[in-house]
Amino acid sequence: LTFEQLNLIEPLLKAIKTEGYTNPTPIQEQSIPVVLEKKDLLAIAQTGTGKTAAFALPILQLLHGNRTSPRTLKSLILSPTRELAIQIGESFASYGKHTGLKHTVVFGGVPVGSQISALRSGVDILIATPGRLLDLLNQRALNLAHIEIFVLDEADRMLDMGFINDVKKITAKIPQKKQTLFFSATMPSEISGLANGILNNPIRVEV
Ligand code: AMP
Repeated sequence: LTFEQLNLIEPLLKAIKTEGYTNPTPIQEQSIPVVLEKKDLLAIAQTGTGKTAAFALPILQLLHGNRTSPRTLKSLILSPTRELAIQIGESFASYGKHTGLKHTVVFGGVPVGSQISALRSGVDILIATPGRLLDLLNQRALNLAHIEIFVLDEADRMLDMGFINDVKKITAKIPQKKQTLFFSATMPSEISGLANGILNNPIRVEV
């Protein structure tokens, strides 16, 4: 299969070519059509499978077709760690460079000032760790009322790191009517319980 056959738009195909990717990985092949159909996704995939592009590419495509002026925050990606959040941000920068969409990354352990400024300037996509996101919400530095696509990445690590309550607090502030993409390397019962609570008739993919 090719990326063209997944019906990706030209601004994305051009960026994929620059990255040097020739074909989609199995998780991308299975997930991209589901996301483009605006369905919820439950994906069981480890790091290194190409899971970031499996959600980033179709999110960029859906949001490219739905741009607003001024920009509103339409997609939130939650990451358990700062390192992963930064990597996801770099992926959105590479894949999204011809889309005109803007993203920013926020995480704890650094001053909030420049993160608040970046949010105020307007972004379409936010990549965040849970604790810092809650701080910013408490400071009214952002608004989740327009979120259309929510991604929970590495859900099992969120559990291991003690972030499940924070994740639940965040999901409670996102509109009910949204698309949710849930990624986890493993599916212990606590994680499938969390998935059941936040997903709506998900398509399950496993690699
Ligand atoms: P991830 O699982 O998202 O952490 O991705 C692992 C690595 O695979 C990253 O370095 C990506 O740049 C790379 N990658 C993602 N998709 C593809 C693809 N279709 N072909 C080749 N490399 C890819």
